[in-house]
Amino acid sequence: MFIDISNLKKSYTTGVVKTEVLKGIGMKLDKGEIGVILGPSGSGKSTLMNIIGGIDRGDSGRIIVDGVEINNLKDDKMTDYRRGDIGFVFQFYNLVPNLTVGENIEVVSNISKSPLNIDEVLAAVEMKDKKGRFPRELSGGEQQRVSIARAIVKNPKLLLCDEPTGALDFVTSRAILQLLQQVNKKYGTTILMITHNAAIAAMANRVFKVRSGEIVEAAVNQVIVPAE
Ligand code: ADP
Ligand code: ADP
Repeated sequence: MFIDISNLKKSYTTGVVKTEVLKGIGMKLDKGEIGVILGPSGSGKSTLMNIIGGIDRGDSGRIIVDGVEINNLKDDKMTDYRRGDIGFVFQFYNLVPNLTVGENIEVVSNISKSPLNIDEVLAAVEMKDKKGRFPRELSGGEQQRVSIARAIVKNPKLLLCDEPTGALDFVTSRAILQLLQQVNKKYGTTILMITHNAAIAAMANRVFKVRSGEIVEAAVNQVIVPAE
């Protein structure tokens, strides 16, 4: 198993109020698979993904990613893990506005151990001709393509996508999902994606349904490739 989580718990305390956000999560994902975390707003999806990505820590439980128990990592090792092994794609792209497309990707490439070629990843997301553009000159779908290129240039073991199509229209969303499938095939990247759109779950090998901090259903899918 590439991701193997058992009994993961996480609470947040605000003032005197303690809220249990993750109540003993268990999930498994194999290398090279696409997993989708599906659930309503506030159910704990982002918290779970942030813990898997080393942005946050669990309170207890076991979180093994590629053979490493990440919850026990010291802060500096956790930073290495997050920077080196994980690619992040967010709903609102998070590109640096005063850097060009090429420069946005170069910044990440420069701090990566074994980066892919910048032109190659730009070609993979069909954005090579926009290398010298600034983010404000691009449509939302194009900015998301660039943010995917930025995430994969470091050749991550795991690509974590938090509502990657949440701000996009239906047609653009479908193109972005197809692109993620291509990345998964071409580079063998394991992908874990959050969505609250049940239709998106059809592209996943495994679907984890989350309700109020618990996994209520983990289904294994026959993958449906969206039509051209
Ligand atoms: P989802 O991604 O499913 O919308 P989240 O993981 O973002 O859910 O949030 C789950 C719950 O945890 C929410 O009630 C949210 O308010 C709470 N929460 C998330 N992050 C924090 C935080 N840093 N401090 C306090 N509460 C938080
Ligand atoms: P959408 O189809 O998502 O509405 P837009 O209409 O914003 O996208 O953009 C369509 C095309 O125009 C894109 O290829 C984008 O690169 C280009 N474009 C948009 N705004 C600018 C701009 N300010 N300068 C240069 N090119 C732009």
